[in-house]
Amino acid sequence: MLKIKSKRELDIMRTAGRLVAQVLSAVAEAAKPGVTLDELDQLAERLTLDAGARPAFKGYMGFRHTLCTSVNEAVVHGVPSARTLKNGDIVGLDYGLQYQGYYGDSAVTVPIGPIPAHAAQLMKATRDSLYAAIELCRPGNSLKDLGRAVEGTVKPFKYGIVKEFVGHGIGQSLHEDPQIPNYEAGATNLKLKAGMTICIEPMINAGTSQVKVLEDRWTAVTVDGALSAHYEHTIAITDNGPEVLTEWDEPGFKKVFDRILH
Ligand code: MG
Ligand code: MG
Repeated sequence: MLKIKSKRELDIMRTAGRLVAQVLSAVAEAAKPGVTLDELDQLAERLTLDAGARPAFKGYMGFRHTLCTSVNEAVVHGVPSARTLKNGDIVGLDYGLQYQGYYGDSAVTVPIGPIPAHAAQLMKATRDSLYAAIELCRPGNSLKDLGRAVEGTVKPFKYGIVKEFVGHGIGQSLHEDPQIPNYEAGATNLKLKAGMTICIEPMINAGTSQVKVLEDRWTAVTVDGALSAHYEHTIAITDNGPEVLTEWDEPGFKKVFDRILH
């Protein structure tokens, strides 16, 4: 069932989205060599509670953390641990919260210290593919249009597009209809309507598109061990076009993105 949000609901989701961006920005800025994944998770949880919100992922299908932390060949759903970040790592930070009954969800992949040029290129292309899809978030465009935009952006690099995990509607549930695949053939012809709120989240691998889930039953990794990147926004479809509710305009993002966007 597709849910169209009222003006009142969109107002709450705007606040939820802004809080997501603020917390994720602080966590992204804190992700440095020598910091552990557990420390980032604890920071995210403290900031969430301070904001009067609830961590969205904690307790979701038994997940025990506020943040997903996916390092290097990890694609998504990485479980925070005592692992220490080091120079050259890239780490996906996926974060959501619930505020006044509504969810916001966003993810960024950030560089730890200096990273190889090929890693920066993967991150930039993945981020660009997200914004290419966002640009098409207008009433009348279809989910196939969004998938095609992601595919078209990453195709020149011969990257692998992860198919097992997809974007989703969002609102009073973290995951609502519709599912939003990152490739055209997997997507339906469903047309976007004003008042829909969706998450687009391309997961792009430097090598094969194939992924497997580790024995922790959460962490998805590339089967060939190649790097993977993941970016996500919560977006409202409006008559005036896309409104990115989780926009990365906080200063912490600028510090980390400046190192991958030339
Ligand atoms: Mg997410
Ligand atoms: Mg999501």
